[in-house]
Amino acid sequence: MELEFGKFGGQFVPPQVKEALDEVAEAFEEAKNDPSFIEEYKYYLKNYVGRPSPLYFAENLTKKYDGAKIYLKREDLNHMGAHKINNTIGQILLAKRMGKKKIIAETGAGQHGVATATAAAMFDMECEVFQGQVDMNRQQLNVFRMELLGAKVTPVTSGTKTLSDAVDVAIGEWIGRLDDTFYLLGSVVGPHPYPQMVRFFQKIIGEEAKKQIMEVENSLPDYLVACVGGGSNAIGLFADFMPEKDVKMIGVEAAGKGLNTKMHAATMTTGKETVIHGMNTKAVVDDEGNISPVYSISAGLDYPGVGPEHAYLQETKRADYYAVTDQEAVDAFLELSKEEGIIPAIESSHAIAYATKLAPTLNKDQIIIINVSGRGDKDTDSIMSYIKDN
Ligand SMILES: *Cc1c(COP(=O)(O)O)cnc(C)c1O
Repeated sequence: MELEFGKFGGQFVPPQVKEALDEVAEAFEEAKNDPSFIEEYKYYLKNYVGRPSPLYFAENLTKKYDGAKIYLKREDLNHMGAHKINNTIGQILLAKRMGKKKIIAETGAGQHGVATATAAAMFDMECEVFQGQVDMNRQQLNVFRMELLGAKVTPVTSGTKTLSDAVDVAIGEWIGRLDDTFYLLGSVVGPHPYPQMVRFFQKIIGEEAKKQIMEVENSLPDYLVACVGGGSNAIGLFADFMPEKDVKMIGVEAAGKGLNTKMHAATMTTGKETVIHGMNTKAVVDDEGNISPVYSISAGLDYPGVGPEHAYLQETKRADYYAVTDQEAVDAFLELSKEEGIIPAIESSHAIAYATKLAPTLNKDQIIIINVSGRGDKDTDSIMSYIKDN
């Protein structure tokens, strides 16, 4: 297994953590080559998550934009309403296989914390989630969800009291409890093997989409479009299509209040190569090279770094990255709700916004697949106040 994606990725961690990571990497390498492990993972994806998720032809949206055919990969229909569960099921099965009894995770807005607590409840594992105090105050509903699911939510009060500090505290805790504890990371980020491992557990999205589009169109898509926070739903959709050189891949990140302001989370379009959270990747930094605070209306895209594979795909020009503002994402959120009766997550709405700009520039026999990474019920309150204030 490669430690790096070109010059990106790697393991920028203290020696003790490296030992723990090597143990995880070795167990993962074995597990992914063990048919009984894969069978078990697929069993829970089918019977617990509800896979395969449909690939839906968005007929109304397609008609409206009068260009390429628009298909939606419906990850919003998964159990708990997003793609994150694919990964948490996979990693918990690995933790069990390694004989671990406890799961720790960090969370920002709480979506990954909830997905982790869900899988931990089902597999009867003890679960502790570290969350910044500021994030806990902002996301009380998700804190309650995690507690309902039996997890302990521990506030992080250092630094900015948000996600970056929660990552540091969770890793520190992990070092103290390596013998019985598994660290469950939520996106294709962090030190090796996490970017590879999360990619592996999310690539089911693209594997299904490829089969599904071949069945209905007897053709590969021209474009794949997915939003990018850490980058796991995008890599999940892209992975199986990477060898198909004619399939273009587009990642869409958060331009927030605009790229001309400091209120954005546009890592791929404005960031620089740097080391963050144990990996060498791109991140939003200030003039001194320090990690900048980032902002997006979407909690899931509000991350200063990005998975190293995305930095690599951009550098090698295999994928392109664009940024979409809060306003454009909110418009897309409202539009998909009205046109198709599907309320998308505000994260996914960024991908929809870009795709609806792209569609009219293409021919009618061309195909776009958008990854609808999650459902938008969680976002209705914030969209309501956004509309009031703008
Ligand atoms: C967490 C989340 C994202 C962002 O994470 P990625 O790793 O970039 O996929 C996107 N969409 C939804 C619905 C999420 O919950």
